[in-house]
Amino acid sequence: MIFTVAIDGPAAAGKGTVSRAVADHFGFRHLDTGLLYRAVGARMLAGEDAVAAAEALSPDDLRSPDLRTQDVAAAASRVAVVPEVRAALVAFQRGFARSEGGAVLDGRDIGTVICPEAEAKLYVTASPEIRAERRFAELVARGAEVTLAGVLEDVLARDARDMGRAEAPLRAAGDATLIDTSDMAVEDAVAAAIAAVEVRRSGRG
Ligand code: C5P
Repeated sequence: MIFTVAIDGPAAAGKGTVSRAVADHFGFRHLDTGLLYRAVGARMLAGEDAVAAAEALSPDDLRSPDLRTQDVAAAASRVAVVPEVRAALVAFQRGFARSEGGAVLDGRDIGTVICPEAEAKLYVTASPEIRAERRFAELVARGAEVTLAGVLEDVLARDARDMGRAEAPLRAAGDATLIDTSDMAVEDAVAAAIAAVEVRRSGRG
């Protein structure tokens, strides 16, 4: 059985939580494609050429615990504007998407560029202020020294780069189901996502 769920949206909108829950619910594999760009960003920060790093990326690169920092996130969104970096990561993502047993991929261009043929597409978003508050709480819980204003600035800068770039800009696919999590509890966002995928699975949507 081949079934791809494409989940796109801006930073800290709740995509990761929703994606993992959808994958668990349906027994699908899950790929957080942001990790690919973060791993390339981390290698660039370590002095490597970004394109060479993308071409040489291995699954081990995705397991590093250091990929969750704000510095790596910013580096990821910088390398993500380079067309050759994006091109080097396409085949892996498409192979994962069409692997047997069903797959959930979350990112920025999954429903528009990587898997325009995905059977189910979701666009998960929330206001920049809410996203900054959530990311701030996450970072503080991990012991990071950050301010809410600083995190909001990062969120807005990343949105501008992700939405404004020429190559594969972040936008909702025309046939994506929109889920705005600004005023939603996590469980409600997850339930809405599962329901939307269920509709596509049963051929009702
Ligand atoms: O999702 P995450 O915040 O981990 O992504 C880090 C950065 O990687 C994003 O800000 C974006 O620039 C880039 N990215 C992308 N395309 C994807 C996934 C992530 O350009 N499919």
